[in-house]
This record gives sequence, structure tokens and C-alpha cells, in this order.
Amino acid sequence: MSTAHYDVNGNIAVIRLDNPPVNGLGLELRRGIVNGIQQAEADNAVKAVVLIGSDRAFSGGADISEFGSPKAFAEPNLNTVVNYVESSRKPVIAAISGACMGGGLELALGCHYRIAKPDAQIALPEVKLGLLPGAGGTQRLPRLIGAEHAVNMIVSGSVVPAKQFKGSPLFDEIIDGELFDAAVAYATKVVSEGLPLKKVRDLKAKHPNPEGFFMFTRNTVGAMAKNYPAPLKCVEAVKAAVTMPFDKGMEVEREAFVNLMQTPESRALRHAFFSERLTSKIADVPSDTPVRDIQSVGVIGGGTMGTGISINFLNAGIPVTLVEMKQEGLDRGVAAIQKVYEGRVKKGRMSEDDAKAKMALLTPSLTYDDLSNVDLVIEAVFEEMGVKQSVFEKLDEVCKQGAILASNTSTLDLDKIASFTKRPEDVIGLHFFSPANIMKLLEVVRGEKTAKDVLATAMKLAKTIKKTAVVSGVCDGFIGNRMINQYQREALLMLEEGASVQQIDKAIEKFGFAMGPLRMADLAGGDIGWAIRKRQYQENPDMVKMVLADRICEMGRYGQKTGAGFYRYEPGNRNALHDPEVDKVVDEVRAELGIKPRKISNQEIVERCVYALVNEGAQILDEGIAQRASDIDMVYLTGYGFPVFRGGPMHYAEEVGLPNVVRAMQAFTEDRHTQPGFWEPAALLAKRAEEGKGFDAK
Ligand code: NAD
Repeated sequence: MSTAHYDVNGNIAVIRLDNPPVNGLGLELRRGIVNGIQQAEADNAVKAVVLIGSDRAFSGGADISEFGSPKAFAEPNLNTVVNYVESSRKPVIAAISGACMGGGLELALGCHYRIAKPDAQIALPEVKLGLLPGAGGTQRLPRLIGAEHAVNMIVSGSVVPAKQFKGSPLFDEIIDGELFDAAVAYATKVVSEGLPLKKVRDLKAKHPNPEGFFMFTRNTVGAMAKNYPAPLKCVEAVKAAVTMPFDKGMEVEREAFVNLMQTPESRALRHAFFSERLTSKIADVPSDTPVRDIQSVGVIGGGTMGTGISINFLNAGIPVTLVEMKQEGLDRGVAAIQKVYEGRVKKGRMSEDDAKAKMALLTPSLTYDDLSNVDLVIEAVFEEMGVKQSVFEKLDEVCKQGAILASNTSTLDLDKIASFTKRPEDVIGLHFFSPANIMKLLEVVRGEKTAKDVLATAMKLAKTIKKTAVVSGVCDGFIGNRMINQYQREALLMLEEGASVQQIDKAIEKFGFAMGPLRMADLAGGDIGWAIRKRQYQENPDMVKMVLADRICEMGRYGQKTGAGFYRYEPGNRNALHDPEVDKVVDEVRAELGIKPRKISNQEIVERCVYALVNEGAQILDEGIAQRASDIDMVYLTGYGFPVFRGGPMHYAEEVGLPNVVRAMQAFTEDRHTQPGFWEPAALLAKRAEEGKGFDAK
């Protein structure tokens, strides 16, 4: 049970927050704090109160397990607690170590004195959930550190070490030694010197030129925050702290908080926050499943992916043996890795020594024998089953028992790859995204025979290399690419039907995607999609052909890498430029196909592209390829540039209303271009729409 422990030490009462791991301010703890203050007030022997947490956290803020439940706002709510502390007749001293964030900082701001360890982490990160600090943070912080610093902290949500506030009224003392003793000593001093009850609410938040400052801040924050309402509300609330009495300012804060709670943007951000935590939970692989020790890694293939993958492990201090076929390829791979580190040094993000130390962890090799002792091998060779077969057969020969054998394949059947070894239980897919050293997403592909401890190890390792890992079953394209194929397909069909390259990309970018589908195709390389389509045409002769996209590829226009795709590119420049050549090809293909171009609305572009994702996502969910809809959202938020403020395709569909999505899809079925049955809502989507439930409803 979470609680606050009350103790008396001489004439100093101590309230110790005890709700591991980070003293989330759940209802029990809030009650405990109020009880503690009441006890201290009732005890004549007590002259002052110390409020202290653990080494790890004074308090990390709201208790996330209460999010969305009435408990979160039940009395005493956080505001009540902070006011209670502030109006205590006996001085309350906050003793701060570890995380002091969100509600935790607001609680500290309600105390009369604050002392902190130098490395305590101070933040008001509510903006990251589309909210603002709702328990007086926007009103008290500016009164202590000034409007400018307060706006910076509240609008960015960034974490600042306490030592940076040395000398500012936020902390009365920065404590290098033992915090508890220092806190009791400080409280004793407050009592013996008869120091006053310093209430932050009584201070004045100052700025020499509030009008000018807030106008400027509104403009800059407004321009940066574009799709997010919270940052501007933060600015407004801090302005209220400067221009209004405390109680009025609190009203402004409260109204803004309530308002923001109901915005789709905040719902999306909160969804993403919780979804990220869920991805590592696997129904039949309990969190205490033993994991294999990974002390060294082998990477096969020093191309685009192999080099990026290697960097992840080098960054984490794990030695990598990189194997290539020929010296030339190996040199190229090592040089590519070296270049990344040199770039970091040049930008001042890393010291030269550090870069050297990372490179020293890399062992280039031309022989598989060097992999005999590694704990994990990741294969990133050409995407051909024959090549994968020879690699996995060799790995089976040379690797030690218990080594994990992983493939980075994007499209090939992992179970088949596993069958090339005598230990399919040790085989798993680790599907990185390009550039692999930067992209957050890692699809962890669970084969039919993948052992549970192998899966658990992969999920743990993903955390070590700072990836968001999402489990996917085996299917063509796994979760992400299987869905993106449908989305791309709609974009290409609309291009044939009457939309322009520019219109499609602009509509999707306005929706919030980092990049429209055609610019994205140019970046990824048109040849990759073309190869997939050619395979699919063979496998499924009834499939509607992407005539225009195929034609563009037949012309050798593979996108950025060939200087031309759906756009043209100047040498050395990634700017996508309009190309009249493409318009000509579009006209020709339309004429060949007998298509009379029609005007396509931006709404149709967005709906067809996004609902194609949703429908395939629902199918993937129904097949058990993804564990939950929120996992699919995480794939899209971390790997495909889906707008975060929309929470991922599945969440977005729920926001629109699943019955509305189904209705819109049914209207598309009239299209003569469409693959028969393409817009038939997936069974799970239809079912959930009818039940009026979300995808992940039980
Ligand atoms: P790439 O062509 O850039 O690199 C492949 C490298 O493997 C080459 O350097 C080649 O010399 C080497 N190689 C080939 N056979 C080998 C063997 N038998 N032993 C040792 N080295 C060998 O290809 P890539 O883009 O890095 O893709 C590699 C794998 O990653 C493929 O399976 C691909 O589907 C997958 N993948 C690619 C991307 C991407 O965006 N490029 C994204 C995710 C996954």
C-alpha cells in the first residue's frame, strides 16, 4: 500500500513519501500527506515539518496508474494537498532528491522552504501530454524564478538539474551531503531563528516588460507548437501569474487544464504515453521470464542496415563483430560507421576519445568463424531467400549453442529462414528501420518456433539500445510495411484517378505526416516497392496493377538515389522539385487506362490513405499479428512519421468514430479502380463499429 510515513524527530516532524517507484501522488499518498500535516499541527511539541521522498524520487508527479480513473481527481486532489501544505501553520521544508517532476514539483512549491540535492531532476513535463501543470505550477514557478525561465521550463517540459538553480529562490539550499540530516538541520534552523512561513503565493511574479515579452513569446511558441494547443495555454497561464492576483491566476490555470484535458491532441499524447509502456508486455511471456546474457553481437552485412545496426550496439558499449563478404565491402561499412562518429564529434555531440572508444569496440571480419563466440548475430544481407539460406546454414554451423540468430529481413518469411537452422527456437526477426542508428522503432518478429526467452531477451535488449520494440507475428511486411503498402497503393491510385503528386503529398502533410506518400516513396527508393509489387502481381494475378508507379520505375526513376522519381532532385540536394516530365507520364497513363481525370478532394486523399492503414491494421489485429491496436499505433508513431498529435492510425480511427470510418469506406467501394473487396471493412473493424467499442476493448 502506498502511503506517507509520519515520524517525529525531536521537535521536527518528518513525512516520508513512500509510493515506489517514483512516489506517484496517488490518492493514498495524498491522504497520507494531509494526515501528516494534520498530525504535526495537532502536536504542540512539533515546530516544523520535513517532507522527504526517496533517493530515486521526491515525487515523479501524478500516479499514472490512476490516470483516467476518478481516483486521480478524488479529494484530497493535488491542488487541495498543495494548498493544505502551504497554509500549514508550521513551516514545511521539502527535501528533494531524484525526480521532482510535475505534481511533485508543484507539491514542493507549496512548501515554505526547499532544499535539494544538486542532481535532483526538476521539471514540469505536463506539456508533453498536451496538458499544463494543474496544481499551481504555472502560478508559483514564475513567482520564484521569473516569467521567462518559468515559460521556458513549462513550455519545453525539459528536465533541469537542481544545481542549475543554485542562488535562485527556487531552492533555499543545494545539499551535497546527506539529505535527511541536512533537512532536519535546516528545519531546526528555521525554528530556532524564527524564520517566517514563506508562501510562494504571496510573492509577485515579475517581468520588466510583460506586454512585449508575452507578445513575443506567444508568437514564437505559437509558430513552433502548430498542431498542439498546450504550449500556448502554458504561456497564457504564466502571463496570468504576472498580471493577475494569485487566486485569479489559479482560475486561469484551472480552466486551461480542464480545457486541454478534453482536446484530441492531449488524448493522443496520453494514448502514446501509455501505449509505449504496453508494448513490452507479451501475454504469454511473463515479465520475469529469464533472459539470455548478451555481451557481444555479430552483424552480417556492412551495407545501409548493417552499419546502422552496429552503431546501436557500439553506442551501448556492446562489442560488435561486423562480417562482410569482401574486403572492399568491409572497408566501406567500417568507413560508414566511422563517418557517423566523426560527424558527432564535429557537431560537438561527442568527444574524440569517446568516438575512438566506440570504434575500438568494432571488429571487422571476413570470416564467419569470428562469430563462434558472440551471443547474438543479426543478419542484414541482401533480401533474397537464397542468400539468407546460405547465411543461416553457416551460422548454424559456427555459432555457439544458445546464441540468438536474428534476421533483419523486411519481407521474407522468418519461419522459413528459421528452418534453415537446426535451432529454429533461437531464431527471431529484428526488423530495424533506416537509418537504423536513428529510428526508434524495432519490430521484433516472433517466429512460429521462437523461444520465449529469446523473445524476452530481444525486448530487453531493445531497451538497452533505446528502441521502442513492438512484437509482430510473421506475415508479408510485418505490421508496418504490410500497412504502408495499402496506404501507398491508395496514393498511387489517386494519382491515376486525377490528383497530382503535389496535391497528394500536401494533403497528407497537412494532416500531419512528416512526409507525403510520394516524397516518402522517393526517399525509400521506388525500386524496393516495385520489386515487392512485381512479386505480388505474380502471386496474385487479379491484383489491380499500379501502372503509373510501375511506369515511373521502368523509366529508371527510383527517387532520390537516381535524382528523379515522382519529383526531380538537384545533385546533392534532397529538395523535392516539381517535374513536368512526371505530369506528362501521368497524362499518358491516364489516357492508356481510359481514365477521365476527376477532381479529388483533399479530404478524400486523407481518408483513403489513412483508412487503408486502419483497415489493414484491423485485419492484422484480427489475425493476431499485432498484440493490440496500441502496438500498431506505436509502430506508426515511431517508424512512419504518423502525426503524434493524432495518436496513430488506430487511435485516430477511434477518435473519428469507427462507425464513421466504416461509412466512409463503404462510400469508396463505388470506385471502378478499386480491387474488388478492398474497401470491405475488416471483420474486426465492422464488429467494433457495431458494438460501439474501441479496438482494444475486452
Ligand atoms: P545493402 O545492399 O545496403 O547491404 C547488404 C550488404 O550485405 C552488402 O554490403 C553486401 O556486401 C552484404 N552481403 C551480402 N551477402 C553477404 C554474405 N553472404 N555475407 C556477408 N555479407 C553479405 O542492403 P540493406 O539495405 O542494408 O538491407 C539489408 C537487409 O535489411 C535486407 O534484408 C533488407 O530487406 C533489410 N532492411 C532494409 C531496410 C532499408 O531501408 N534499406 C530496412 C529494413 C530492413
